[in-house]
Amino acid sequence: MHNELKESYQKIITAVGEDANREGLLDTPKRAAKAMEYLTQGYRQTLDEITNKAVFTSDADDMVLVQDIELYSMCEHHLLPFIGRCHIAYIPNGKVLGLSKFARIVDMFSRRFQIQEQLTHQIAKAVEEVTGAKGVGVIVEAKHMCMMMRGVEKQNSSMRTSVMLGNFRSDPKTRNEFLQLIKG
Ligand SMILES: [Zn+2]
Repeated sequence: MHNELKESYQKIITAVGEDANREGLLDTPKRAAKAMEYLTQGYRQTLDEITNKAVFTSDADDMVLVQDIELYSMCEHHLLPFIGRCHIAYIPNGKVLGLSKFARIVDMFSRRFQIQEQLTHQIAKAVEEVTGAKGVGVIVEAKHMCMMMRGVEKQNSSMRTSVMLGNFRSDPKTRNEFLQLIKG
């Protein structure tokens, strides 16, 4: 993959009218390929591998909230970044997941080409699958470079998506508790 990416970046540099052989750009295809490999490593990861048995038995049944997880992804329409924050809440059903694993789940799905709606859904389904939770709520707030740097050039707009599963969907009280907690 690395060489293919490298050659592709070389072509992009030439296609925009640059001299791919000038000093400042000489190693750019190599560096860009490496960066792109990193930013898409989610394609080569699985949920099993990243959560790596960090699921613990617990009789806790109160809402667990992990707030303000940084999120960096790329939109599948323009391959430009969208960046923001993710809030995840769930109600345990006998099992809890190690704290750092939520960030890993967010990273795994973010490091694929995405639309935000789909990303939010994938994170929620993954948390549900790994924990067997009674309910999961996920909110993503992000700014999209394809809106800010090109097109309509709206620098201050952000997009908010949410997915509610299980009792977050069926019980307004649970959902409201989540929404109140992330405000507070
Ligand atoms: Zn886009």
